[in-house]
Amino acid sequence: MGDRSTYLWYSAGLHFECLQCGRCCAGPEGGYIWLSRPEIRLIADFLKMPVKELKQKFLRRVGFRFTIVEDPHTRDCVFLQQTKQGSGCAIYEVRPAQCRNWPFWEHNLVSPGTWNSTGRKCPGINRGEFYSSEQIRDKKKNKKWWLPVLRPVLRSFSVGGSPSRAKEGDDKK
Ligand code: SF4
Ligand code: SF4
Repeated sequence: MGDRSTYLWYSAGLHFECLQCGRCCAGPEGGYIWLSRPEIRLIADFLKMPVKELKQKFLRRVGFRFTIVEDPHTRDCVFLQQTKQGSGCAIYEVRPAQCRNWPFWEHNLVSPGTWNSTGRKCPGINRGEFYSSEQIRDKKKNKKWWLPVLRPVLRSFSVGGSPSRAKEGDDKK
């Protein structure tokens, strides 16, 4: 008999392909797009502005954490923009882990029911690219995607050189 506590209903894998519709970044419901400190630093660098200015213009403090501001009327993330292909993220290269790991979020993966109901919001669910259960586990765990990006910066400080940024590996939303 299988162990119920370790059984994964998606052990045979799942399909997902982003259609760039932007619905997961859009209102009308509000939400939180949490950021870690390294992510705040990388987004500020990417937008070529000081962290203080980024916080004033685009972030909102909630308790001890920061979330990205939403448009007050549409409740879309302020970084959601229209592109020729559909919708896109203005900070795609440095988007936070929460955005990178969608739709493989814990509460979307509770059961086939929660996964399929997430598909009502995200039309990319159950189509396109195959993800094994190991790949899904890795995506769920990958909260520190920025480590390989920041590591060369930290290393350069330790040897006294000037900081440089490594290019991150592509990890589509
Ligand atoms: S992840 Fe889903 S909802 Fe978000 S842009 Fe892609 S297809 Fe649309
Ligand atoms: S930061 Fe980018 S990917 Fe994340 S919610 Fe905003 S527009 Fe979407």
